[in-house]
Amino acid sequence: MPVIVQHKCPQDHPCPCVRMCPVDAVNQEGFEAPEIDKNKCVDCGVCVNFCPYQAIIDLSLEENISTSSLR
Ligand code: SF4
Ligand code: SF4
Repeated sequence: MPVIVQHKCPQDHPCPCVRMCPVDAVNQEGFEAPEIDKNKCVDCGVCVNFCPYQAIIDLSLEENISTSSLR
């Protein structure tokens, strides 16, 4: 399941993942870091692979990352 690493997202552009997500699970308010609707996400990986800043990561692939580093 993807999670947003807010401090890696520059929050200065419309997130392309909003329209790339096949199930409309990525939401963005203004230019803020997007949020992922976990109830809709089907874990396709499109947003994880696309974000050029690695601001969307798949936690299952980042087992060593600590929760505090996500804030
Ligand atoms: S593509 Fe990445 S850096 Fe750009 S808005 Fe989306 S999450 Fe943030
Ligand atoms: S992993 Fe796929 S379904 Fe889930 S939010 Fe990203 S693009 Fe949408």
